Amino acid sequence: MGRIVILGGGESGIGAAVLAQKKGFDVFLSDKGTIGESYREMLSQYGIPFEDGHHSEELILNADEVIKSPGIPNDAPMILKVKDKQIPIISEIEFAGRYTHAKMICITGSNGKTTTTSLIYHIFKSAGYNVGLAGNIGRSLALQVAEEDFDYYVIELSSFQLDNMYDFRANVAVLLNITPDHLDRYDFKMQNYVDAKMRIIQNQTKDDAFIYWQDDPVIAKELKKYKIESRLCPFSEIKENGAIAYINDGVYEIEYPTPINMEQEELALTGRHNIYNQLAAGISANLMGIDGKIIVKSLKDFKGVEHRLEKVMIVDGVQYVNDSKATNVNACYYALESMKTPTVLILGGKDKGNDYNEIKELVKEKCRALVYLGVDNQKLHDFFDPLELPVADTRSMADCVKACQGFAQPGDTVLLSPCCASFDLFHNMEDRGEQFKEQVKKL
Ligand code: ADP
Repeated sequence: MGRIVILGGGESGIGAAVLAQKKGFDVFLSDKGTIGESYREMLSQYGIPFEDGHHSEELILNADEVIKSPGIPNDAPMILKVKDKQIPIISEIEFAGRYTHAKMICITGSNGKTTTTSLIYHIFKSAGYNVGLAGNIGRSLALQVAEEDFDYYVIELSSFQLDNMYDFRANVAVLLNITPDHLDRYDFKMQNYVDAKMRIIQNQTKDDAFIYWQDDPVIAKELKKYKIESRLCPFSEIKENGAIAYINDGVYEIEYPTPINMEQEELALTGRHNIYNQLAAGISANLMGIDGKIIVKSLKDFKGVEHRLEKVMIVDGVQYVNDSKATNVNACYYALESMKTPTVLILGGKDKGNDYNEIKELVKEKCRALVYLGVDNQKLHDFFDPLELPVADTRSMADCVKACQGFAQPGDTVLLSPCCASFDLFHNMEDRGEQFKEQVKKL
C-alpha cells in the first residue's frame, strides 16, 4: 500500500486519516496550525502519526497521494511544493467515495446548501432510510465510511471540496444557484468558481439525476457547454418550459417520477429562496423512491436550520432575526427580500470582494437604518452612507445590538444578515450568531 499524507487536521482531515489507516495505507497527517484536542485524541487512539504547528517537508513530499483540507488554498506554499513534485492532490470526499457503494445525493450552490442538505436528510430519516449526513455539515464522509454502513449519503459540497474531486460520482447532483462567492480563492475570476461548481455533474451517467434551478442565468449559460448524460430535473418558481417542479397557483408541485402536490402555505420554510430549496429537496426524495405522503409531511414539519433566518425573539415589539450564515451579498438579498416590515440591517465583517449593488435597491426600499459591525467598516460607509439612511458604526456585538435597539420601532425587524465572513471579530459565523442571540436576550 502507498503513503497517504493528509494536510489539515480538522473534521475532514481526521476522517480521511482514520479511513486511510483502516484501509492499510501508511498515513501521516500534518497541520500548520493547531489541531483541536478531541482530534488529537482520535489520531492517537488510532495510532496515526501526526504533527501540528508546522509542515515537515521530508514527511510530506514522499507521499503517493495528498488529501487536502478544503480550507487550505491552492496557492499555499506547501500545496505548491506538492504540485511541483507532481503528487496527486484529492479531497476527502473523493477519497471516501472510493470505499463505499452507498448512493450519493450531493448538494452544491452558492447559497442554500446547508438548508437543502438538512431538509433532504430530514425527509430520508422520516422515511426510515439508512442515511448519513456528510460534507460541510456533521461528521466527515470519510469517518462515516470508515465506521458506519449507510445505504445513502446526503452530502453538502462546497466549491473547495469540488475543486479536488475527479472520479467521484454523484447519483443525484443538486445545483441550487451560482452567484459570486469566495472569489478571493479563485484568482478573482468568476469562471474559475463556476467551473468548480459544475464539477458536481462530472462522471454522472444516464442512471443518475441532475437537479438544478432552471432560472439561474449562470447555470443556464454553463449547461450549453456540457454534454450531460444524466436525467435532467430542472425546477423553477413558476410552471414553465421543462421545469419538473414549481409553484403553480399557490400549489407546490412535483411532476415526476411520482406526482406530488401540497399547498405552498403549508411548507415549513418561508421566503422565496426557501421555495427553491424545498423544490430541490422534494425532487431528490422523490427520485429516491420516498413515498409522496412522507415527503409532504416532512416538508411541513421541518424545523429549519440555526443561523439561517432564525427568529430569535420579539423585544419591545421588534422581531430580531439571526441570519449570520448570510456571508455573501446574494444570501442577504434573499433575506432582505423576505422582510415584511421596516428593517434595521446589520452588515459587515470580512469582505470577500463584495459588490453591494445587488442589494442597493432593497436596502433603499426596506431598511430603516444600517448598523455596521466590523473591524474595518470603510467600504460600507463609502457604499451605503450616500443613501442617507441613519447608520451606526460598531465593533462589538453588544454595541451593535444596542445601536439596533436605538433605531428600531415597534413592528420593525432587526436583521443580522451581514454579507461578510465573520473572522474579523468572531471565531466563525456560529459564534457571531450565538453572540447576537445572547445580546438580544439581554435587552
Ligand atoms: P450555504 O450552506 O450554501 O451557505 P445556507 O442554507 O446555510 O446555505 O443558507 C445561507 C444563507 O443564504 C441563508 O442565511 C439564507 O439567507 C440564504 N439562502 C438560503 N437558501 C438560498 C437560496 N436558494 N438562494 C439564495 N439565498 C439563499
